[in-house]
Amino acid sequence: MAQMIDPFGRAISYLRVSVTDRCDFRCVYCMSEDMTFLPKADILSLEELERVCGAFVRQGVRKLRMTGGEPLVRRNIMSLFRNLSRHLESGALDELTLTTNGSQLHRFAQDLADLGMRRINVSLDTLNADKFAAITRWGKLEKVMAGLEAAKAAGLQIKINTVALKGVNDDEFDRMIAWCGEEGFDLTFIEVMPMGDIGGEDRVDQYLPLSVLEKRLDKTWSLEKIDYKTGGPARYVRVAETGGRIGFITPMTHNFCESCNRVRLTCTGTLYMCLGQEDAADLRAPLRASDDDGLLEDAMRAAIARKPKGHDFIIDRDHRGPAVGRHMSVTGG
Ligand code: SAM
Ligand code: SF4
Repeated sequence: MAQMIDPFGRAISYLRVSVTDRCDFRCVYCMSEDMTFLPKADILSLEELERVCGAFVRQGVRKLRMTGGEPLVRRNIMSLFRNLSRHLESGALDELTLTTNGSQLHRFAQDLADLGMRRINVSLDTLNADKFAAITRWGKLEKVMAGLEAAKAAGLQIKINTVALKGVNDDEFDRMIAWCGEEGFDLTFIEVMPMGDIGGEDRVDQYLPLSVLEKRLDKTWSLEKIDYKTGGPARYVRVAETGGRIGFITPMTHNFCESCNRVRLTCTGTLYMCLGQEDAADLRAPLRASDDDGLLEDAMRAAIARKPKGHDFIIDRDHRGPAVGRHMSVTGG
């Protein structure tokens, strides 16, 4: 099997695919309320997405994560997942997974489990319905809770992703740890990252370094360092009291670039080699130029050959704006 190795010796084994830029929520740290979405013609069809993913699998990618925008709002998205699950059956792919806001999970959980998904990430920043409505602007907590229930019943392992927001949800973390422990969910805290204009909100005020959070949690809970890896950038600890795992994703305070094995594809076929850099490669033109995947695979290899060593996100009083102009919903986090 061909492997794509970048200039720093990192093998690319993980592709995250943003299947749509649209979403049924407008989370305050992610989008502005009046987003302009891309015209249909710019967006890869489901067949095109399948072709690109297939080419990456042939070039050594072992893990595919579907994200967005909200992946489950794209029409017919289950047909793409079903077609990609063939790579699981053939053994070419180790994992096909999903990051979702959970709003449509009650409809799709069983189908996801049936096609071979084992774990999914569900983003949830609060257990308080009013706060949930304020953070997501358009979301309803009870719908996400019904989705989680359905996912659990379908046998999917669930990891909750929580963006740590100072003064917004930082009074709830103990409750969330206890709740995840009871439900059997893993929990990962994420630092807010400076991506995209979010319309009047100020990230300096939202930013809560996870190093501070971890010290605070350490006073209430017995946290044991563990060597658990999911192929992602989170560091994990085990909570002795609940038996649950907590992960920390700290792009701002901790450099996770050395072990970066991933690249990100947008729904327009643009490949980003680093979440925190503007450099990107267009895969849509070579994809559409020929029915054969030769041009596409050449473009993929040329892109990996320019994968940068790392990012340099900064949030402080002198850097209030976005470090990169695109929104997280473009690359899917
Ligand atoms: N809509 C899906 C969801 O919310 O899970 C998938 C896409 S969303 C962009 C992926 C993840 O990125 C979510 O967990 C979300 O909380 C996170 N995210 C969005 N904007 C962020 C930001 N500025 N900083 C840190 N995380 C962010
Ligand atoms: Fe939508 Fe996810 Fe962004 Fe929230 S974080 S607005 S759910 S894409």
